[in-house]
Amino acid sequence: MSNTNTLGHTDPSMWKKRARKDEFFQFCLRSAYSYAAFASEDPRTQNGALLCDPKSEQILLMGANRRMCGMFDTPINPKEELVTGDKADLLVHAERDVLFQAAQRGLSTRGLTLVCPWACCPDCANAIVGCGIRNVVTYNKPISMYKKWETVSEHGLSILFNHGITLYRFDSILPSRPTQFTEITLPNILFDGKPFNPLLGEWE
Ligand SMILES: [Zn+2]
Repeated sequence: MSNTNTLGHTDPSMWKKRARKDEFFQFCLRSAYSYAAFASEDPRTQNGALLCDPKSEQILLMGANRRMCGMFDTPINPKEELVTGDKADLLVHAERDVLFQAAQRGLSTRGLTLVCPWACCPDCANAIVGCGIRNVVTYNKPISMYKKWETVSEHGLSILFNHGITLYRFDSILPSRPTQFTEITLPNILFDGKPFNPLLGEWE
């Protein structure tokens, strides 16, 4: 994993603690993918996001890129419009989806960690900053694979970094050893219009 804030500890117990946190974050990245496969409505690229607390190792809320829900539980726009209409106006990005859900549910986002495999555009970055998020966890593979969006994503990540948010950028979503976190089977998701296996990290 590459991390912008490298720890300089030589104390083995600190490394153990850090390794466990990394394993929890990798589990969260896999969980976000799994949720995206189930909940994302984007006809081309499915993305998930979640809010978690690494201290208690709890996932608090999950989101995906999908149609916005307001006071009512169902979106007002028919799903068919996602293909025929202007997708950008109809879908909310996964990062903002989970933040908006937190607001609706009265969950304070201050100090929480946001996990999103493919993060983030500048608009989402500003929303993440404004919501007081402390850490952002992301996966390098999709960012570098999607060339069209790579510069945009890196700009978003630089906004986070410049606001003091700690970035955890993983090169793999799999742990280097068996962990206590429940393993999940990951289905393919859509990435740039094609099936993508997050575990293989390559298009099928
Ligand atoms: Zn975004």
